[in-house]
Amino acid sequence: MSGIEFNSRVGAMPPYPVAATYAFDGDHPVAFGKGHRLVKLASNETPWGPPAAVVGALQGQLETLNRYPDPAKSLLRGRIADRTGLPMERIAVGNGSCELLLCAGEALLEPGAELVYAWPSFSMYPHLAPASGAREVRVPLDAEGRHDLVAMAHEVTAATRLVIVCNPNNPTATALPVAEIDAFLASLPRHVAVILDEAYVEFSTLQDPDDTVDLVRRHPNLVVLRTFSKVYGLCGLRAGYALGSESFRSAVDRVRQPFSVNALAQVAAAEAIRHQDEVERRVEQNIVERIHVTEELAERGLPCSESEANFCWVDLGDRREDVIVSGLAERGVIVRAGEALGGEGRLRVTFGSRHENDAFLNALDQLL
Ligand code: PMP
Repeated sequence: MSGIEFNSRVGAMPPYPVAATYAFDGDHPVAFGKGHRLVKLASNETPWGPPAAVVGALQGQLETLNRYPDPAKSLLRGRIADRTGLPMERIAVGNGSCELLLCAGEALLEPGAELVYAWPSFSMYPHLAPASGAREVRVPLDAEGRHDLVAMAHEVTAATRLVIVCNPNNPTATALPVAEIDAFLASLPRHVAVILDEAYVEFSTLQDPDDTVDLVRRHPNLVVLRTFSKVYGLCGLRAGYALGSESFRSAVDRVRQPFSVNALAQVAAAEAIRHQDEVERRVEQNIVERIHVTEELAERGLPCSESEANFCWVDLGDRREDVIVSGLAERGVIVRAGEALGGEGRLRVTFGSRHENDAFLNALDQLL
């Protein structure tokens, strides 16, 4: 029996390496005993639920769900404009920052064009070349797990349309200072778009998020990508944004449907961004947990690369990655195996609440 025929690009697209946690619900009485909640440290989510004001904004929106969402996303783009000082015309909002990444690929890439990014880095980037027919160049991270911007600049040719820098980088959690990114941008030809993916920027101690907004003002080819999924804790709703040129925003709006960001995501994100005191509280809590977990791991002979994010990249040495990942899962703790993320012999572990982090460390002790 013959099946339907797909275009040749589809077979070349790597499936996104999803974490195992989505197969479970919060309570998993069968495997772990009733009332035992799964400890989900596999997707770089944050442990905090939405603040009351965000829940209130969501409730206020429920009765008008028979209406399409605002295609211009005016309320949310206006609030992002207030926060960043950039005009709304330079702000694109997406169904998660993933949507904006895919739109950027669609708007910028085509057969004959080239894309440069570091590896290991975020698992969506390998989707862009097969989706567009462009050629990709992956530049290895340096020995400390950081982007090697000199090596990346060497790969830029007349055919390069897009360079992606993930800062802090997923999965290694390392970050570069803004001055290095500024110099890198200055060294590139202006026809090359640079996406600076800052999904985790709020957690970085190397910079204030406002520092890169200043780069957007000075480099017309720069696009800064941010998300409400991480420090704002709204990944279940899907909202992200891009700060760039007006022409970039307009190209993104042409290649996608007008209603991709739903009404609940728009109001929740518009409310969440007003609560920077809450963001600061979360960032501080994350730093405390980051120090706790990475020090505890170091005492067990498990070093991590320098984390500037809400997760760490653990070097397992000669221990078997699959044994540790499945052993932790049997104990109700879900983390990511490095292999699926481009780094064999590693684990990527998200920082959760103190209770969750200690559950991870205790489960690890039973395995080591
Ligand atoms: N960029 C990076 C580096 C990420 O790690 C993620 C999510 N894991 C995203 C972008 C996408 O986030 P979202 O689509 O939820 O905004």
